[in-house]
Amino acid sequence: MPELTGDLDTILEWADEFRKLGVRANADNPEDAKLSRDFGASGIGLCRTEHMFLGERKQIIQTFILNDDDAVREKAVGELFEAQTGDFYGMFKEMDGLPVIVRLLDPPLHEFLESPRALDVEIARLEATGGDKTLIAEKRMLMERIDGFAEQNPMLGLRGCRLGIVYPILPEMQVRAIATATAKLKKEGLDPKPEIMIPLVSTVAELEKLRAVAEKIIAEVAAEEGVELDIEVGTMIELPRAAVTADEIATQADFFSFGTNDLTQTTFGFSRDDVEAEFVPQYLQEHLLPYNPFATIDPGVAKLVEMGVKLGHEGNPDLVCGVCGEHGGDPDSIHTFNKIGLDYVSCSPYRVPVARLAAAQAALEEE
Ligand code: PEP
Ligand code: MG
Repeated sequence: MPELTGDLDTILEWADEFRKLGVRANADNPEDAKLSRDFGASGIGLCRTEHMFLGERKQIIQTFILNDDDAVREKAVGELFEAQTGDFYGMFKEMDGLPVIVRLLDPPLHEFLESPRALDVEIARLEATGGDKTLIAEKRMLMERIDGFAEQNPMLGLRGCRLGIVYPILPEMQVRAIATATAKLKKEGLDPKPEIMIPLVSTVAELEKLRAVAEKIIAEVAAEEGVELDIEVGTMIELPRAAVTADEIATQADFFSFGTNDLTQTTFGFSRDDVEAEFVPQYLQEHLLPYNPFATIDPGVAKLVEMGVKLGHEGNPDLVCGVCGEHGGDPDSIHTFNKIGLDYVSCSPYRVPVARLAAAQAALEEE
């Protein structure tokens, strides 16, 4: 475990006296949550729940999506609920007394399904080696089924809140797990503070729909468990449409978290997945900007954030606003966020000390 000792610790404590921005961390397991706490984070600003769905659990989602048999689907969701309740219990316990923003499943659906190309290769291998005919037929059917979900641009397709609207049983399961873990910890005398975040919203109607789902499940669990559950529901602002209609969206949100990774991608129209490839970084550097807008907030994207904060407060004067994209840990961007008047930044646990210092510096420069 890393320790912040001596002079650095003292400097960070001074920094905390001056800064206006809160500093939270992005973490999705108890180990990283502990690390965040040790580095001085005042909560978790982003828990990406898709990171909890690797390996076997991915297979369970596939079973759920591809099966029409209600009993099989119910069993799959039951297994996911058990696993998620354990995940959240661990996270909230580690962050006892501090807020933990849990984001509902975000990535494109295909990331939870087997790769059709890999299935195709397996079928060819089975055929070449005289494999079982029934198994080959089953694999082919599976491949065709999964192929039906293929999209040309998955990052612009069935992902984020759209996933929860098409398959409401997924957010229902996650919210039930969050509420159940919270109730359990409360009964043990702890003080869990979860908040639920809906990703990739573009219209207020999407948030309204999923907020209603969350509120219904939270009320059900509170009644079943006999505990009071006060869990806030907010959204990510990561599409230009969300930023420019933030006044409407805020009527359904307790908080906004600006997802500047996606917001940069969708504002520029550059794929964030290609920043390491040849064209995007080369073009950016040679023809467009003297900095990487996926690392340091671009003034154009920052204008959308500023507009989102201003409009958001018109829709809900008590709205809490933060940022949880990569930019939340970048000192230059932190200066911009301080100027805009965000309430907090959220970044990787290891960047928390740097963010604390940058936030203090930004506040001091303002005076
Ligand atoms: C973002 O888009 O800025 C964000 C934090 O979400 P993710 O990186 O998981 O898409
Ligand atoms: Mg995003």
